[in-house]
Amino acid sequence: MNKTALITGATRGIGKQIALTLAQNGYDIAINYRTENDALKETKKQIEEKGVKCLTVQGDVSNFEDCEKFVKEIIEEYGKIDVLVNNAGITKDTLLMRMKKEDFEDVIDTNLVGTFNVTKNVISHMMKARSGRIINISSVVGVAGNAGQTNYSASKAGIIGFTKSLAKEVASRGILVNAVAPGFIETGMTDVLKEEIKEEIAKSIPLKRIGTTQDVANLVKFLAGEDSTYITGQVINVDGGMIM
Ligand code: NDP
Repeated sequence: MNKTALITGATRGIGKQIALTLAQNGYDIAINYRTENDALKETKKQIEEKGVKCLTVQGDVSNFEDCEKFVKEIIEEYGKIDVLVNNAGITKDTLLMRMKKEDFEDVIDTNLVGTFNVTKNVISHMMKARSGRIINISSVVGVAGNAGQTNYSASKAGIIGFTKSLAKEVASRGILVNAVAPGFIETGMTDVLKEEIKEEIAKSIPLKRIGTTQDVANLVKFLAGEDSTYITGQVINVDGGMIM
């Protein structure tokens, strides 16, 4: 019986690459999506081409009832969730002076409360199974901060605290919980920046390039897999040496 993995916000970007990489490694996949679109259909097709199952479950991670519903759908179909990757995330960048209360709340609700909502609905199944892997996608700005991202940095720092506390709570049940903190990764989220700015950023990174979604997916694959049995409560950067 294949292992199963739920990845939130997996129709594009980092989430999609994680789903494809785990599919390549024989996991049956459940992708959570918020908006139905062609990207969703294409991702599902690419996953199924790898010879594994792909269940697509709709739901806004910031809505607890949505999460309750889609986790139930996955359990009904697969019977278990071995790996949970909390990936769905948004940015609403601006300086605090200009930031509206809604900009702060929306980012916290999706990134941090969303991580709680999904994990809370999955954890009882992992506790019963006495095994599981939870990988939360944080960010280097949750560690180091970034001007214009007080909302986003707070959400990503919150995810780190959540990860460490949960890791302590569930270790005795064989559940490993870690956070991955990507640096600057080429996706739709970072596409908004001008080419010149991206080049400047690349120059400032010790490894002299912007990261790829595969760089992140490779670490997630490791943390989810059998080669990782003694790592929990950690925050691991995938950032080309940006933060040391
Ligand atoms: P993208 O913007 O490319 O993709 C984000 C995904 O999250 C989309 O599939 C989106 O779905 C989904 N999503 C957003 N809000 C919700 C919601 N409320 N419920 C369900 N799904 C939702 O982002 P990235 O791939 O770049 O980022 C993925 C994760 O990695 C995020 O947590 C991000 O913060 C983190 N990260 C990214 C970095 C980067 O440089 N790119 C750096 C550090 C961390 P929809 O299509 O419906 O909008």
